[in-house]
Amino acid sequence: MAFLSILGLAVFLHGNSDHRHQSDSSNSSSSSDPLAKATTSEATSISPTDTLFDDPSLPADAKDVIISAGFECSLPAVKIVKLTPSQYEVQSTQKVATGGFYLLLRLDGVAGRTVQLDFKGSPFDKWGTATPQYTYAADLNHLTGFQSTTQPSTQPREEYRARSRAIDKPALPDTNGQQWHFFSNVWHESGEICLRQKFEQDSAFIALRVPYTPEYNDAYLATLQRNPNVEVIEVGKSKENRPLKIVKIANEVRPLGQQKPCILIYAREHPDEQDCSWIAQGAVDFLASDDAQARAVRERADFVIIPLLDPDGAASATHENIISTFDVDKGTPESLAYAAWFKKWVDEGRRLDLAIALHNPPPGAAFNVACPMMEPEEWRFKQCLQLHAVILDNLRKSGYTVRTDPWGKGSASQRLSGWLSSNYGTLVQPYEVNSLTPRQQLDLAQLREIGKIMACATSLYLSSDQAKMLFAQVDQTRKQRNEWQAKTSPSSEASNNALRAEFTYQLNADQRARVLSR
Ligand SMILES: [Zn+2]
Repeated sequence: MAFLSILGLAVFLHGNSDHRHQSDSSNSSSSSDPLAKATTSEATSISPTDTLFDDPSLPADAKDVIISAGFECSLPAVKIVKLTPSQYEVQSTQKVATGGFYLLLRLDGVAGRTVQLDFKGSPFDKWGTATPQYTYAADLNHLTGFQSTTQPSTQPREEYRARSRAIDKPALPDTNGQQWHFFSNVWHESGEICLRQKFEQDSAFIALRVPYTPEYNDAYLATLQRNPNVEVIEVGKSKENRPLKIVKIANEVRPLGQQKPCILIYAREHPDEQDCSWIAQGAVDFLASDDAQARAVRERADFVIIPLLDPDGAASATHENIISTFDVDKGTPESLAYAAWFKKWVDEGRRLDLAIALHNPPPGAAFNVACPMMEPEEWRFKQCLQLHAVILDNLRKSGYTVRTDPWGKGSASQRLSGWLSSNYGTLVQPYEVNSLTPRQQLDLAQLREIGKIMACATSLYLSSDQAKMLFAQVDQTRKQRNEWQAKTSPSSEASNNALRAEFTYQLNADQRARVLSR
């Protein structure tokens, strides 16, 4: 694994004489139950935060646990405070109002040791009941660290419905057969989340959501190279020279009027939002398979899927990088490469009817899936609602929770989806997908299954009669654009800058109308 930087990571060493340290044999055995302690603290008037955890079985000369951040996909803005050789406090040096902070740490030197971690202060105080996960996988860029030999578990979903709102811990799926597991011993104190675990191996990764790294993406897409059902295309390079990759699941171009609808699903325009890459990967896995259902879906629609839109942003665990660069004045190597590819796609006469932009909300959002924003124009809003009803119905049938109404209406014209919408008439539907709802958490197998269901549901909607009005408007937008372009010649700058080329078309709407009426 490549450590990009450990800057910003400070380990403050306190001696065992730390004033907060109390030798408390009743709390130093790994069999003690900190959750019980936390809930009974009022009665006993012992605040659990006053009682530090020190494992008496740890040899006196044991080395400190090494806790690292700042490697690929790990935000370096973390401060580690050693409270005892077995207890460490994790603080964020970056204050995030929403709690949307992506946590990924590496622990070394933990084999056979019971370690307590306290995630303290903002933004961890906004994580609600979120339960972190861990893996002993040696390499986050390798496929083996994310394999699942099991079908998505249905057990927690049934359990979910019966759970009382008073329960302050989420239902957790059985992760047997998977590489990432939920910490079982997690409790909440005021303003912090604490966990205690006996580790079996020397190194472990801890994350709030399972990371999906750029190198893992490359390794995963390389497995599809000989798959006849999909084509992996490198559309360009990022600023830091990482490949920008698109998965195409589409047949030959058919004559106008006989083409299948085409659906774009893309993840990580907010590059630290890991959940959405696993959804996109689930859709690719399913569509690439020889499963009879997958064949039927491929018959209904073509797909373009981007599991990781912003690999540079992902590597540095930033929240915003290329997201709002699909604008004539803000072009980057990434947005120019993607825009050029989609422009060529449309110029070749291919369809592009729907763009699903995947996000994940901060922990604590109540639903597994919610639509944050639908297109405001009345009849397009109606299309969005109808599409959402099909997605909602299919997800709920499989036990996932879906918010019925969108959070609001609006458009984001400087994002990829908004740019496609304004130039090619593509309907935009963003989705927030959340593996960390307060009453139920999802594992990788379940996130991948949501991707499969979204691929099925979107293709069902687009092959229904309801969607015919959408095609008519997409066709009309395209027709006007093509007529305009046939009658005008782009500037030399615009001919190799897709953002500028389409902007010219957008800018001259009045002029366009005059040209077209001649
Ligand atoms: Zn987002």
